[in-house]
Order: sequence, then structure tokens, then C-alpha cells
Amino acid sequence: MSHGDGVSSAYRQLPSVSSLLANDRIRSASRLAGPALISFLQRELTESRTRISQGERPEPGDVIASIEAALDALERPRLRPVINATGVIIHTNLGRSTVSDETAAAMAEAAAHPVALEIEPETNRRGGRMDEIASLMRLLTGAESTLVVNNCAAAVLLVLSAVAARRDVLVSRGEAVEIGGGFRVPDVLRQSGANLVEVGTTNRTYLADYDRAISENTAAFLKVHPSNFRVVGFTSSVSTAELAALGRQRSIPVLEDVGSGALLDTASYGLASEPTIIESVAMGASVVMASGDKLLGGPQAGLIVGQRRWVDSVAKHPLARAVRADKTCLAGVAATLRHYVRGEAINQIPVWRMLATPAATFKDAADAMVVALRTKGVPATAVGTEATIGGGSLPGAVIPSFAVRLDPEGGRRVDELARRLRTGSTPVFGRVEEARLVLDLRTVDRREHDALIGAITAAWRP
Ligand SMILES: *Cc1c(COP(=O)(O)O)cnc(C)c1O
Repeated sequence: MSHGDGVSSAYRQLPSVSSLLANDRIRSASRLAGPALISFLQRELTESRTRISQGERPEPGDVIASIEAALDALERPRLRPVINATGVIIHTNLGRSTVSDETAAAMAEAAAHPVALEIEPETNRRGGRMDEIASLMRLLTGAESTLVVNNCAAAVLLVLSAVAARRDVLVSRGEAVEIGGGFRVPDVLRQSGANLVEVGTTNRTYLADYDRAISENTAAFLKVHPSNFRVVGFTSSVSTAELAALGRQRSIPVLEDVGSGALLDTASYGLASEPTIIESVAMGASVVMASGDKLLGGPQAGLIVGQRRWVDSVAKHPLARAVRADKTCLAGVAATLRHYVRGEAINQIPVWRMLATPAATFKDAADAMVVALRTKGVPATAVGTEATIGGGSLPGAVIPSFAVRLDPEGGRRVDELARRLRTGSTPVFGRVEEARLVLDLRTVDRREHDALIGAITAAWRP
């Protein structure tokens, strides 16, 4: 038989769409409505033809099995829960902060039901979208007003558009930075229509540099926390307090992007300090911008916190409508802030619990997990590790932690083991170090330990 005959018989052997529609295995695997199933099967058959043209010779049974598997995958949500065993507390690629149980419940309730989002129940008048969050934030920071938008990038874009379009914004050269994920301060400024005026030098900026650069066209001073890197050595920068004092003299507002948006001091947990929203407000910033899903430990959001006259004018800008937060986000931010108001953030908010739990707790957990794994035939070991904050917060900072380490042996490959864990029924993400898989327990919830043991055992099987 010539090569060409093999190809044409392989094509002929492919099942037709109508025979697949009648096939019992396909019928029981599919939950798709008729038209979607037909286009799905057509796409799968096109892929089979491509594979044949590339030299593969799938049996009809293989084709059915691969369609079954593809139908199965279609039913498994991509955004189902995974276990974060990377040791990176705020892991951007795994969706940053996880929220507390109470916050998650508040978000689910708001999603599933109508809520009095913009109606004052007392008067039945319009209003109130930000009232609850603003009063919680006021209790925490003393700030007069708060507006919540889609994320911190949107907050910065919106604030600059509302406060400084077509005018100058003075930024220290050391703060005209790229935060990552496409957020570059000069680009955001340009997009807002504001004109960037850099002052000082990369490593040293003085108050006099700002003072000298002020003109009639100056709309604001912008301070940006350079979250993801540190300048060390011969450096000098101007504090928010000094800048705010100058701003008061010259009637220029200070806008501060603090990034991570902590409401607690990381220095209490053996780490360096991240600027907090509270400090920035106290030092006199007119408007503070922060992320909701970094050290705040809430859902994705951008917080705009500050003096009423500025926050109100930002809220009235047309762009505010385009970047506004939905009811689930607002319910989540409010529930998260309530933990801080009650003084229970350390115990209730996962990010802070992970930060604050003593390493000994994870040593005990790793030891216990290793015992459980060994009884199931998995030769794991407990090892000391260093967890990190992630999310562009506290670059270089490490927190002592413990992990379960798997040493693939006898020709097994560590990347294959890691792939199996990522794609299992409970997906697990760890990190590969020196050809071993390290599963750091600092970022794993206690309640996930049994599921983690199950996932490791399943992935380890030959
Ligand atoms: C992370 C960060 C941002 C972007 O925040 P998103 O909530 O991801 O939009 C902006 N500025 C600073 C300083 C940051 O650290």
C-alpha cells in the first residue's frame, strides 16, 4: 500500500458528525446543546484531519476517546480552585489574594440576590453606593471620603484624568517606575492627558526640586511607591508629609499611589515596612490610591481614599463610570474592611494569617504530612524553605517556612510530576528547585491539607 493510500484510508475511517451524534459514549459525555455540540464535533474532526496530514494514523476508537476527553475538559472550569503551594503569598498568576470566608460569602450573596446598592432604604432615594465603605474606611484611616474602582491602575488613571488633565504633574525621577503587568507611571500619565514633569534624580530627590518645578500649570504632586524594587545606598526622597506641607502652602494636592494598600504594618511581623493607607492619609496626602487584592487581602479593586473635595470631583469624572466596581466587589471590600475595624484581620484575612503564622506551625504540618505520605508509599521529606510576599510587595523579603519535598527517582522527571499535580482533579502548584518539587505549606490553607496529600499520592502513582 502506498503512503497516499494510507492517508486516504485514514481520512475515510474518520467518523462522520452524524455518526458521532448517535454514538452512546459521546452522548453520555456531552452536556452541550445541539448546535454547540455539532460545531464542537466539526472542530474536533478538523483537528483529526490536521493530525492525519501531519502523519498520524488515529484509529476510530482513538478519535472517540479524544473527543470524550475534550468534552470532559470543557465541563471542568478553568477557574476552579487550585492549591497554592508555591510559597508566594500574593501570587498574581494564581489570582492574588484569597479573601476570608466571610468576605467570600458576602460576595456570593451579593451576586445571587438584589441588593440596595444605590437606594437609601430610609428615604427610598438614589444614593449610597460608596457610603458603607467610606464610613468603614473613615474609621480606619480618618479619611473623609472613599471611592472604589476596578483596580489600582484604574484608580491612578482616573485620579490623574480628573485632577490633572492638560496640566503638569510633578513626579520624582526615582518614582516614574514600571510596576509590572503593563503599568508604567509615564504611560498612565500620558493616557490621562496629564503632562509628566520629572523632578530630582533617580536616586536623590529633595523638596527644593519640587519647589523649583512648580509653575502656574502645576496640577498635582504624584508620589508612587516603587513596590517591586528597592534603591539602596546614596538615596534621598521626600516624604509625603514634607510634600503635603509644601502642597498646602502652594495649593497643590499630593496624590499618592501606595500600591499594596496595607492597613496593618508588616514591620510587626519581622518584615520591612510597606507604606500603609493610614500613614499616607495621616501625613496629609489629598488622595491615596491602593490595590484591593494585595496586602489589603480583599477582592480585586482600586481604592481612592482622601479629602472629600478631591474624591468627590474624581467620582464625577466620566471615566469613573467606565471603571466602576460591581456589587460583588463592593460587598467584598466592605466585608474585608470590617475585619480590620473589628481588629481580627490577622486571624481572618488569609494573606495576614499566612504572613503572621509562626514557622513552627508549618514545620509541624510538614512533618505530619510526610508521615501520612510515607504510609501511602510516597517518599516525601520535610524541608525548611523561604516563602515570599509576592504581588510586587516587599521585594526581596523572605519569611521562614516549611515544605514537603518530593525527589523523583528511578527515571521519573520532576517536570512531569509537577505537570501531573497541576492538571489533577485537585490542581496543585508548587515550585521546582534543583530537580525536586517543593510544596510550601505557608500558602496552603489548613483545610486543604488532606486534599493536598490525596493529590500528591495520585500524582506520584506510576
Ligand atoms: C500593584 C500596583 C499597581 C497596580 O495595581 P492593580 O490593582 O494591579 O491595578 C499600581 N501601583 C503600584 C505602586 C502597585 O504596587
